[in-house]
Amino acid sequence: MSKVPTRADAVQLDRLDRLAAYRARFSLPADVCYLDGNSLGALPRGTSARLHQVIEQQWGHDLIRSWNAHGWIDLPQRIGAALAPLVGASADEIIVCDSVSVNLFKLLSAALRRNDPRKVILTEASNFPTDVYVAQGLVRTGVSAAELRVVPRTELECNLDEHVAVLLLTHVDYQSAAAHDIRRLTDQAHRAGALVLWDLSHSVGAMPLSLADDQVDFAVGCGYKYLCGGPGAPAFAFVAQRHLPQLESALVGWMGHQQPFAFAIDYRPADGIDRLLCGTPPILSMMALEVGVQLIAEIGITAIREKSQALTEFFRQCVEPWLAESGLRWGSPLNPTQRGSHLSLHHPAAHAIVQALIAQRVIGDFRAPDLVRLGFAAPYVSFVDVWEAADRLREMMRTGSYDQPQYHVRAKVT
Ligand SMILES: *Cc1c(COP(=O)(O)O)cnc(C)c1O
Repeated sequence: MSKVPTRADAVQLDRLDRLAAYRARFSLPADVCYLDGNSLGALPRGTSARLHQVIEQQWGHDLIRSWNAHGWIDLPQRIGAALAPLVGASADEIIVCDSVSVNLFKLLSAALRRNDPRKVILTEASNFPTDVYVAQGLVRTGVSAAELRVVPRTELECNLDEHVAVLLLTHVDYQSAAAHDIRRLTDQAHRAGALVLWDLSHSVGAMPLSLADDQVDFAVGCGYKYLCGGPGAPAFAFVAQRHLPQLESALVGWMGHQQPFAFAIDYRPADGIDRLLCGTPPILSMMALEVGVQLIAEIGITAIREKSQALTEFFRQCVEPWLAESGLRWGSPLNPTQRGSHLSLHHPAAHAIVQALIAQRVIGDFRAPDLVRLGFAAPYVSFVDVWEAADRLREMMRTGSYDQPQYHVRAKVT
């Protein structure tokens, strides 16, 4: 399609879309273009019924017996096993627990311990802030004798020296959507004697990953974005099999004990990945996440990636003809194979533009200082959604209608 796409083109693309039927598996308001699945995935239709059953039957009626009778105690491993094919790992290398931030703390401390006496955590200045904060906290409190080195993205490779214990990176950049080459950087880190810890928050559920084939050591990822696990859904942690026997995290608790119900006073780690557990899993949140993971796995990660690339390219075709004169500036890689499933546009009035879009039922988000960020979650976003979003954005930029006082008011969450 070289000409400017029309709404009829979008309708036609939706007709040909093999994933189109899956939109009905999500509960979305009919009049909304939801382009923020990269921040909070949409609600799968199956989730409400599942939670209702778990609450009324399992919690309400079966009570504490449910830990065994309904397998509550095995949920961290069970959801981990369902996630494994999505990231190219084996079931016993993944556990679902805590938040990404907490899992980063556990795995960073474990990586430092594993690569002793090296001390340096190497990361990039444009990493997601929580990744850097967790590393700063580890260093400041002396939990691990570590040193943090934060460098520009372009200087990562030349900083892989003999002091680096672990390279800490996010696969898909939360701002630009630029994707690192996991295989290449992991290989380079290994050749320099460093371990790698990848944050997959913006890629899991949106694109296929091959952690085992790429020889990744450690990884974490988010449950509430493309996995549609619900607000604050638990995260996951991955540890390559070869590191499991020696794995020692600085944050341990009774659920990671070899025999939690022996109530022994001395900590003995469980075998394998289970030792990354700390406290009691949040069962309701785990159940909701399981529905999301099963649905994403059913749709198929290869098909999801294919459609997400088509959606982002379609958006680009829609906005390309008028983008320059609108004052918006492209903020993502032009090559779809080099980016994740969202797109960013720079504009000094980005916050007001996003608020005005939301008022017109196109939901995206603003990322400081100047980004309009739009996510294209393939399981439920249609080509017509994309066309409508581009059309409303075009009209808004043409008339300047976003420049109104109410759109400049900043809420706590942007
Ligand atoms: C969303 C996101 C997180 C979220 O961390 P939580 O501790 O689970 O809130 C972490 N890292 C990246 C790169 C993210 O995009």
